[in-house]
Amino acid sequence: MSNSSKWVLDTNLRECAVCLREFGTNKPAASNKTHCRYCGGVYCRACCYECLSVPAEDVVQAPQEGPGFDPAAPQRVCVRCAEVSLHQ
Ligand SMILES: [Zn+2]
Ligand SMILES: [Zn+2]
Repeated sequence: MSNSSKWVLDTNLRECAVCLREFGTNKPAASNKTHCRYCGGVYCRACCYECLSVPAEDVVQAPQEGPGFDPAAPQRVCVRCAEVSLHQ
C-alpha cells in the first residue's frame, strides 16, 4: 500500500526545501520542481535525483496518480531521505 497523505502540494512553493534555491516559476518550461517519493516534499532536481528502492508501504504517491504507478520500482528521493533513511 502506498499513501498520498504526505504528498506536498507544490502550487505555492517557491523554493527548494534543501538548498533554498528558487524554482523557475517565471518560465514553466524551466521549472525544476520534483517530489521526493519518501517524504513527499518538493525539491529542485539537484536535491532530488537519486532513484532508490523504497519499501512499498513507504512510497508517497501523488493523489492524482493513475493505476500505472508502480511502488515496487526504484523511486526518486531527496538527498535528505537518501542520506538519513535509505542509505545503509
Ligand atoms: Zn535544491
Ligand atoms: Zn525526501
